[in-house]
Amino acid sequence: MKVFFGGVRGTNPRADKQFAEYGGHTTCLFIQGESGQRIMLDAGSGVQAVSKHLAKSQSKHLLLAMTHLHLDHMIGLPMLPLLFDPQQTIDIMAAGSAGLTASAALDRLLSPPLWPVTIEQMPAKIQVQELEINRLAADHIQFKRKGLEMRGVAVAHPGGCIAWRIDEPASGQSLVFATDVEWSASGDRQRQDLIALISGPTPANLLIMDGNFTADELPQHEGWGHSSTAQCVDVAREGGAHRLLVTHHAPDRDDERLAAIEADLKTMWPEAALARQDQIIDLEDLKP
Ligand SMILES: [Zn+2]
Ligand SMILES: [Zn+2]
Repeated sequence: MKVFFGGVRGTNPRADKQFAEYGGHTTCLFIQGESGQRIMLDAGSGVQAVSKHLAKSQSKHLLLAMTHLHLDHMIGLPMLPLLFDPQQTIDIMAAGSAGLTASAALDRLLSPPLWPVTIEQMPAKIQVQELEINRLAADHIQFKRKGLEMRGVAVAHPGGCIAWRIDEPASGQSLVFATDVEWSASGDRQRQDLIALISGPTPANLLIMDGNFTADELPQHEGWGHSSTAQCVDVAREGGAHRLLVTHHAPDRDDERLAAIEADLKTMWPEAALARQDQIIDLEDLKP
C-alpha cells in the first residue's frame, strides 16, 4: 500500500511561499493498494496534488471516504478530475451532520450558485453511502474491496468526525487516519474506540493524527476540535502504532514554525514527523 499526501494543512489553504515546504493544501490523502485499488481520504484542496497520481492509475473505481464534511475537507471535490470522466465509478462514504444527510450536504456544495455542475450532471457514476456515525465500530469492516478493508470509529470533533483504518491483509500493512479529533474532549468510549482502531487486529504500521496545536496552546482552544502533537505521541504509543505522522497543520504556521514544532516532536519520539504535502510513503517500508 502506498500513501500519497495531497494536503496536510488544517482549516484553510495557504499558497504563500513560506508555507511551501510542509505544504499549503488542505486535507486529502490517496491510498493505492498492491493491486491498484484506490481510496481517497477527504477531498480538501489537496485533491489537486493527488490528481496526477490518480491520472496514472488504471483503475476505474475510486472510494472517497470522508472523515467529516467541514469545508477544508471538501473544498477540492468540485474539481476532482474523475468526476468528469464517464468511465469512472466513484463511491462516496460519508456521515451526515447538523440535520443534513451527507447527500444533501454534497448537493448543497455542488449546485448553483456555489458551483455550476450538480452531482447528477457529472459524467462519472457517483454513489453516496450514508454512514451512521454512532454505529461505526473498530471491529466492524465497513468497506471491503479487492483486498483492502476499512474500519471506522467516531471521534470527538464539532459536528462529529470519523477516524478511518485501512488494512491490506495480504501484505500485512495498515494505517489509521485520525484527523480533526479533540483528544482532550473525547469521552471514555471515544478514547477506547480510537485506541482499539489503532491496536487491532494488529498494531497499525502508521498513525496519521491531528496535532493542530502545541501542548501550550491547547488550554486556550477547548472545543476547537483538535489535539496537540504531544497527544498524538500518547495516542500512538497507547495504540501501539509503529510510526506517527502529525497532520492538520494550523494555517498560521509557516515552514520555520513547523520545523521548530517538528524538532520538539522528535524529542518525544525521534522517528515521528510532521506530514508533508507531496510525500509518498510505501507502507512496506514501515513494517517492523
Ligand atoms: Zn479540518
Ligand atoms: Zn473539522
